[in-house]
This record gives sequence, C-alpha cells and structure tokens, in this order.
Amino acid sequence: MTTLTTIDLNWTGRPCSIAAVLIGSEGASVLIDPGPASTMETLRSGLRDRGQDFQTLDALLLTHVHLDHAGATGALVRENPNLKVYVHEFGLVHMIDPSRLLASAGRLYGGDLQMLYGECMPVPESNLKQLHGGERIRVGEAELDVFYTPGHASHHVTYWDRVSRTAFVGDTAGIRVQGDAFLLPATPPPDIDIETWNHSLDTIASWGPERLFLTHFGFTENPADHIRLYKERLAEWSALTRKLLASGMGGEGFCGRDCRGNQIHAANGRGRPLHFQWRVAALVAGIDALCAEKGSATQVKRTRTRGIRIRKRIRRWLIGLLQQLRNHANL
Ligand SMILES: [Zn+2]
Repeated sequence: MTTLTTIDLNWTGRPCSIAAVLIGSEGASVLIDPGPASTMETLRSGLRDRGQDFQTLDALLLTHVHLDHAGATGALVRENPNLKVYVHEFGLVHMIDPSRLLASAGRLYGGDLQMLYGECMPVPESNLKQLHGGERIRVGEAELDVFYTPGHASHHVTYWDRVSRTAFVGDTAGIRVQGDAFLLPATPPPDIDIETWNHSLDTIASWGPERLFLTHFGFTENPADHIRLYKERLAEWSALTRKLLASGMGGEGFCGRDCRGNQIHAANGRGRPLHFQWRVAALVAGIDALCAEKGSATQVKRTRTRGIRIRKRIRRWLIGLLQQLRNHANL
C-alpha cells in the first residue's frame, strides 16, 4: 500500500504556507520537498508523529532548489548521510555550492533571510542524483515519473504518480491553499519564462491528473480547471507587467539603487531586470483577483459592493506605494 501524507511545516508560525509530502510504500519512504532549514524541527516532529525520522527516509525528491522547497536538504543529509537527493541537472550545482542561490535570495530578503529560511548547507555531490526528465523513481511498490516542467524556475521538475493520478507540481501551478477559490501566481526572480511555463502546464494537463499537489498548499481537485485559470492569471500578470514597464514605471530607474549591477539579472544569461516589477505587478493583480473571485464565487451583490469598496481603498494605497517606489528609485 502507498500512503501520501501532507506535513504542514508551519513556516514562520503560519499554517498552510509550505507543505512537505511524505510518500511511504512497503517500508520505503521519501519526502517531496523537505522545505526550508528554518522549519527542520517542525519537519522532525511531523515525521515523528507518523512513526518516522530523518534516518528512516530513503530519499528527498526536489521539485526545484528554491529555499522554501529545498533549503533543509544539506542539514538533512548531514543527519542522514545515506539520503539520496534527486534534483534537476540545472539545479544540482546550487545544491553542491549554494552561495549563488543565497546571494540571489539575499537580494530579495536582505537581513530577513536567515530568519525566514535558516541556514542552507551544501550537499555532498555523492548524495545527489541528477534528473533530466523521463526517469522513473521507485518507492517501495510506488513509481514516480519525472517530468521536466520549467517556467517557474529553469530547473523545475514535476513528479507524477500514475496509480493515484496525482501530480506533485511544486510551484508550477501556483499558490492555492487547499483548493480555495483564490489562486495566486508564484513568480519569483530570476528565471520566470511564461512561454515554457504554459508548455509545462499543458504537459501536466495532458496526463489527465485527478489531483495536483501544490507546495503552497496541499491538494487541489479539478486540475483541468485549475490549470486553465492559472494560465489566464499568468497572462493577466504578464500584460500588467508590460503595461507597468511601458508606462515608465519600469526600466533601470524603477529597480532602484539596490538593483544596480545586480548579478541576479544575468543569472540565466538573458538578463531580466524585471523582478521588482513582477513583485509590484503580483501585488496589484493578486489583490484584484482576490476581489473579483470573492465577488463571483459567492454571487452575492453585497459581497461585490464590498469588493469594489476594498478595491478602491487598495488602489489608493497602491498609488501611494508606487509613488514611494518612484521616490526610492530617484534617490
Ligand atoms: Zn515555493
């Protein structure tokens, strides 16, 4: 028998933020995405509650190497040197030497990095199993197919369990807490690629999955609807970002002095001075979507009116925020 168990890592004290998945079958156990180093102890007690510990795990299956998914990997391998770590070939180098990953994250999170994600340790090369997509990983009686699904990150993979028809999509299908109506794109720098992202979403949809498992957070039923909505949302956000850039809110100046000479832009060799704009666009579109969904989901006029009121208030607040950002850029 195969069991799939969600472990809520209760990141920064917030439930339903980051989930690890424990897969057990015939005495074998693996974790998909152990989460950040800052939630190691929560993971330890989550495993203990299920009669497991770090020593009983056989492998870690990483969807990608971002700190909220894979930051604890090095520390876990230190406690259990037999752990195999599966990671896409483009992410492997960052597991061996996380310095570039940490520098990149440090530019976003500054002094909060340690508090948010803990200490990210390197992983010995001998523990790492390189994935390209197309592999099949056996866990007891269960088998997980590996698919290369870039878009959110250039090294993102999805694990597909044909028997339960569950796709473990990491961040490829965005943020949606336990099937809630609100669906938020996950668009971090530096290597978002909308075109390949859409292609990855089409690939996942083509399997006809019955459930998706999102790291943020949990199972989502109706994958076909979820993926269609997510593609729409990504398109809206791209359009909004382009609009922001075209309106003069973008460009070098908008990034502000923190971003000048920032290696993050050149991290994938293509240069994407967009991360700051993406964050603003994400904020605008996310709030907008939240208001819209609250209105349409309930079909209650009163809620719509309230939604419009909230939206107006948020718009005023955003205008102030954008003005502040402009001032910051001009300093
Ligand atoms: Zn994530």
